[in-house]
Formats: sequence, C-alpha cells, structure tokens
Amino acid sequence: MNQKKRKKRKLRTWVKVVLTLLGITIAWSVLRPLLSKEEHEANRNDPDQTAYKVDTNAVVLIDPGHGGMDGGAISTSNKAEKQYSLEYALKIGEYIQQYNPNIEVIYTHNSDEIPWENVNSYNYALDDLNGRTNLIYEKDPDYVLSVHFNSREDNSEYGYESYVRKDDVASDTIYSYIVKNLEAIPWSKNNGGWSTEGYPLQIVDMVKSPSMLIELGYLTNANEVNELNTEATKDKICKAIAKAYCQYIADNPGPTERQDLAKNPNVIAENLPEEERKKVEEARAKEKAEQEAAQAAANSSSAEQVPNTN
Ligand SMILES: [Zn+2]
Repeated sequence: MNQKKRKKRKLRTWVKVVLTLLGITIAWSVLRPLLSKEEHEANRNDPDQTAYKVDTNAVVLIDPGHGGMDGGAISTSNKAEKQYSLEYALKIGEYIQQYNPNIEVIYTHNSDEIPWENVNSYNYALDDLNGRTNLIYEKDPDYVLSVHFNSREDNSEYGYESYVRKDDVASDTIYSYIVKNLEAIPWSKNNGGWSTEGYPLQIVDMVKSPSMLIELGYLTNANEVNELNTEATKDKICKAIAKAYCQYIADNPGPTERQDLAKNPNVIAENLPEEERKKVEEARAKEKAEQEAAQAAANSSSAEQVPNTN
C-alpha cells in the first residue's frame, strides 16, 4: 500500500466513525424525549412514586398462613399453601415499604421457621393460632393481614375472598380497595368480603387490631394455580394489595381503632393471653352483673305496677 492509499483509507475510517457518532447522537436526541415522556406518563398514572408517601407511624403486621410442619392445602402443581402464603406475604410487605417507607411492616414469621412451634403442643392447631395472636398482642400493630389460599373438593371453584370483623371499618374499606385494584388487573373474581359474625376466626376475632384474613385464590383450580405460579401474576396481585393498604393509610395516617374484646361474642376469653383474659372476664362479669341488676329492678318495678287481682 502506498502512502496516498493509506491516507485515503485513514480518512475513510474517520468519516465512518464521525458518521456513526452523529447517527447515534441524532437517534438519542429523537428517542430520549420519547422515552422520558413515557417514563413521565407512567409516573403520573401510577401514584407509587409520591401519593402514598405520607408521614405515618402505621404498623402493618403480615401473617403468612401456615408454615413449619403445617403445610396447609396442596396445589394442583404440588406446592404447599405455606409456600404461596410466605412468598406472597413477603412481596406484599416489600411493596408497602416501597410505596411508603414510613410504614413499618412486620411479620408473624418471615421464613419457614415458626418461632412458636412445638412450644407445648397437645393441640397443635390451637397452639399455632395462639402463637400468632400472642405475637400480635405483643406488637399491637395498626393492621393485621393474614394471607391464605383456598381449596375445595370441587376443582372448578375459583376466586378470592376476605374475612373481617363486622365492625372493622378499616379492614372493610381496605378490602374494597383491594377488590377495585384486583379487578383492574384483572385477577380472578371477588367471592365477597365476609364478616366473621357467627363464624369465629381466631386471627381476626381474637386480636384488638383491625384484622383481615384474605384467601387469594383456589389451589385446587389448575388454571388459577398456573397463574399464581407466575412471577408476573404474583407481582400484580401483591402490588394491588400493597396499594390498597398504602391508599387507606395515606387517607388515615393516624393510629387505628382497637376493638373491645369483651364485647365481641366470638372472643373465647380462656384462649387469650393471661392479662387480656383477666380484663375480658372482669368486663363480662361486670356487664352480666349490671344486666342482672337492671333486670331485677325492672321486675320489681313491674311487680309494683301490676295490680293485685286476687
Ligand atoms: Zn390456609
């Protein structure tokens, strides 16, 4: 190659480099506003970034259903309910803290190790429930969410549902937000927000905090299980639930109302922790005595008013 040719070749290479750089710059300057516009739109439509970040001391306790030696139901893909409930519970908690880092999220257990397991156990199921509720008394959270999945012999059953106390306005409202958010995905179908009136549920009735047990779908329905097994669906469902809590807390950042255990007929005093049991027994005994006294007074006054017909 002679000197001239070499020079020409060098020049051509330079022209190529410059043109390529120019091309990249032009492409970037055209695409960048489009990309950032999209990002901006997404932020505006999704209030994740700002709207939920209110100042609050709210504590949300999430209870992954089952765990340890209690697997719960088994899915059509042979995965135990305890695995679903743990995975979903942790993800819901993660999103709550992402949407509003001021909210404290705690768990009854955050792995397959159950801190209260085999404590004294002549009745495993009761000991397990007491382990969970004792922890809830200790932490006194503003909200309790117990995450479960359903099962039924009829494998065509599908959908989600919740259980809350009949006077628990907070949990009731949050469930209505959850339904709205799940319908927007859309995810399965709403089988209803049920009250525990006449249908006692320990994790809902035996705690003072607003408390919701949610069943997120049927592990006996193969279609539902296929969906629940995908990361994308898990992510959407958990976001929908986390947003419902964050929205409610953004509107009501203060502490929630605790229930009067003595007034809830579903509360079995003897299963409560010692201190609470005493309070409930005393309050109920007092109320009973007052009712009897009122009854006696009513009887004696009506006896005075009834004319003696003899
Ligand atoms: Zn369950």
